[in-house]
Amino acid sequence: MFMRKGRTTGRISLTILFGGLVVFAVVMTTVVQLVVGYRAEQRLLYETTLELNQSTANKMATTMDALLRSMRSTLKYGARQAAHHWDDDDELREPLDMLLHGGGGMFNSILAVSEEGIVRSISPPSVGIGGKRIYSETLAEAHLLRAPYFSQPYVGATGRLIVVMSEPIFADDGAYLGLLAGTLYLHQANVFNDVFGSDLLDVSGTYAYIVDSGGKLVFHPSPARLGEDVRANPVVRDLMEGRNGRKRVVNTLGIEYLAGYAHVEENGWGIVAQTPLQSVEKELRHHTWNRLMYIAPACLLMLLVAVYLARRLAAPIVFLSEVAGRLSRGERVPEAMLPGHWNREADLLSDSMRMAIRAMQQQNDQLTSEAMTDPLTGLPNRRAMNDALERKLLAEEPFALLVMDIDRFKTINDTYGHAVGDDVLRFLAKTVQSTLRPTDFCFRFGGEEFVVLLERSDAATAFPAAERIRRTFESTDSPIGRPITLSIGIADYPRSGMSAEALFESADEAMYRAKNEGRNRTVVGKRRT
Ligand code: GH3
Ligand code: MG
Ligand code: MG
Repeated sequence: MFMRKGRTTGRISLTILFGGLVVFAVVMTTVVQLVVGYRAEQRLLYETTLELNQSTANKMATTMDALLRSMRSTLKYGARQAAHHWDDDDELREPLDMLLHGGGGMFNSILAVSEEGIVRSISPPSVGIGGKRIYSETLAEAHLLRAPYFSQPYVGATGRLIVVMSEPIFADDGAYLGLLAGTLYLHQANVFNDVFGSDLLDVSGTYAYIVDSGGKLVFHPSPARLGEDVRANPVVRDLMEGRNGRKRVVNTLGIEYLAGYAHVEENGWGIVAQTPLQSVEKELRHHTWNRLMYIAPACLLMLLVAVYLARRLAAPIVFLSEVAGRLSRGERVPEAMLPGHWNREADLLSDSMRMAIRAMQQQNDQLTSEAMTDPLTGLPNRRAMNDALERKLLAEEPFALLVMDIDRFKTINDTYGHAVGDDVLRFLAKTVQSTLRPTDFCFRFGGEEFVVLLERSDAATAFPAAERIRRTFESTDSPIGRPITLSIGIADYPRSGMSAEALFESADEAMYRAKNEGRNRTVVGKRRT
């Protein structure tokens, strides 16, 4: 392919320009689409997650409320039963056992404690504090209140972290006897595990935890954190103020969550359901990747089409520059080489180029023919003769060469004037041409010397032809009112020589011999030596 190296380096090709533009457009569109999609989905996913977590927290709070009310009424019933059997230790065990087992396993243990702090009875007895005197500030507070009571988490007499729900026991006469307490072991299997256990963790990493009214963890998937003070968490502060809601929060461990939370009316606890932001983001990234994979083939196809079109558009311009290159090196370019193009601009360019080529070649042809023609006689000149000789030699066909010179022409000029001399030259040209076959040519070699090229001839056939010419002039009046005479030398290929110079020299030499031998005659040149 023709390329002008020096001029093309550092220039951007049309293919790269178009391709680059389309790549840029496609990449930008994809990026914008992905970013916008990501943002929209992020907002939606955050919103949905928050809403879901709040509804989970609300549901759990409602369940918790109902559970606590039912525990409370069970305990109330037990307290009345205990009052009836208060005096008999053995009989006292009965309602306690019934509460523990019959109440659906709501409590981990049930104990009846007298006003003095003596454990009158306990179920199950295995707890091992039956009959003992226990003291805790929590129980002391409950005794003091003589009313339904729900404790904060505390470490009980057995060393366990517990919460206690208690009911006062009054005798029929209204005397305060003590209290009936139901305990929940926070670190062991308890009713909350049974009710909420399955809601704690799901695939997205969502979990729930419960704080008491004082901001301590009473329920959490990681048991080690039970009892921990998490008031620093803004969600917990909201709950302690009795508010429900949803929020994006950073928890006390510095992890970001999307949290929904609800306050439990019955005991002032709060329930939080939350999803780690990280897992939401992970899902988002996954979705974005999927979307990218979905649009990638379309983008790729667009790119391929663009590159293809760019190449198709650039092709005619590259082609035209090649054509221009050939023209500049003087090569002939056929107009048919410049076909139409489907692209309007390329077609216009092709059209203009075609017209330019036509005009240029016409001008060229005219210049060439002018350069090859003798203006005085209209005969092909010496240059045309050289070309014709070369062509003949290349074809390796036999031919003959006649060199003719007007005898005593100088005298004609001197006698009749230069203009008449010119007329004689024109007369000669016309007369010689009229005697030739269409395949033979007459050239004006210069001055009053002419050369005739006879096709498929040798000296033997050329001689009568030359004589015919010579005799024609001898017997025809010229513009000076009488005939002129010619001296003619003959050479033939390949007998007289193998090159244009050798052939011409041979004919010229023969012509001079004709002059020397008395003019108005034809002489055949020597065979080459
Ligand atoms: P010969 O060839 O018989 O020896 O004699 P000649 O007089 O023809 O000899 P020469 O070659 O010396 O003269 C040629 C003359 O032709 C000289 C020149 O003035 C004349 N001549 C050359 N070109 C032209 C031309 O274009 N027009 C005219 N009118 N004369 C020309
Ligand atoms: Mg001469
Ligand atoms: Mg002469």
